[in-house]
Amino acid sequence: MKSTLQELLAELPRPVLTHIQNLERMRQDFVANVSHELRTPLTVIHGYLETLLEQTEAEHKQENKQAHKIFSQMYQQTLRMENLLADLLLLSSLETDEQLQPSKQAVDVAELLKVICDEAKQISGNANHHISLEADTSLKLRGNENELRSLFSNIIFNAVKYTPKGGKIAVTWQRQKNEAKFTVKDTGIGISKEHIPRITERFYRVDKARSRESGGTGLGLAIVKHVLLRHEGKLEIDSKIGEGSVFTCVFPASRII
Ligand code: ADP
Repeated sequence: MKSTLQELLAELPRPVLTHIQNLERMRQDFVANVSHELRTPLTVIHGYLETLLEQTEAEHKQENKQAHKIFSQMYQQTLRMENLLADLLLLSSLETDEQLQPSKQAVDVAELLKVICDEAKQISGNANHHISLEADTSLKLRGNENELRSLFSNIIFNAVKYTPKGGKIAVTWQRQKNEAKFTVKDTGIGISKEHIPRITERFYRVDKARSRESGGTGLGLAIVKHVLLRHEGKLEIDSKIGEGSVFTCVFPASRII
C-alpha cells in the first residue's frame, strides 16, 4: 500500500501533479505577500499609538486616564499582530525553501541555549519558574543558527507559558548513542493524548483562550516541525495532564560536529 504523500504524488499523471504544485505555490506566495503587505500599515498604527500613549500618560485628567487604557490595549494588539506576521513570514520562508538545504554552519547549541534560557527567565518574571540548563558544550550541530534559535525558543517559551507559577523547566542538550538530543521537561498543565498528534498543525491550540492570553500565535510548533524537517530531526512529545510535558528533538549523527 502507498503510504507517504511523496509516493502517492508520484503515481499521479504529470499534468495533474504540475497543477497541484502550482496551487501549492500560489497558496504559499499568497500568505507571504499578504503578511508582507500588512507590515507597513501596522508599523504606522504602532507608531501613532506609541505617541498617543506617551501624550495621555503625561496628563492626569480623568478622561485621559481612560484614553490611556484604551490606547494601551490597542498597542498590545498591534504587538500581537506583529508577532503573528513575523511567524507567518518565517513559516512561509521555511516552506518555500523546502527544497533548499539550510546552510550548514557549525552551530554552538550550548551557547544558543544559554541566551534563550536567560530570555525565558525574563519572560517568566513574577511567575518565578525554576529554569535549569544542562548542555554539552562540545556537542555542535550542522545547520542554520536562526532557524535553530526559533526551534529552541518556541519549545522553551511554550514551557514557560504553559507552566503555572513556580513550576520547574529543565532544558538539556546531550549526546545519546549516536544522536544529539534537545529536551525540555516542564511541570506544566500537560496535553491530553488526543491532542498530541495535531499540535504541530498551524493554528491548532488545545485551549484557544489560554494561548491568546499568553500571547501565542498558534504557529510556534508548526515552525518547529518545519525546522526539524530541514535538519533531519524528529520531534517526540510525552505528556500527562496536570503533571507536565517533555518535548524532545532528536538529530542524527550526520548532523553532529
Ligand atoms: P501557541 O502560540 O498557541 O502556543 P504553538 O504552536 O506553540 O502555539 O503550540 C500549540 C499548542 O500546543 C498550544 O496552544 C498549547 O495548547 C499546546 N502546548 C504547546 N506546548 C505546550 C506545553 N509545554 N505544555 C502544554 N501545552 C503545550
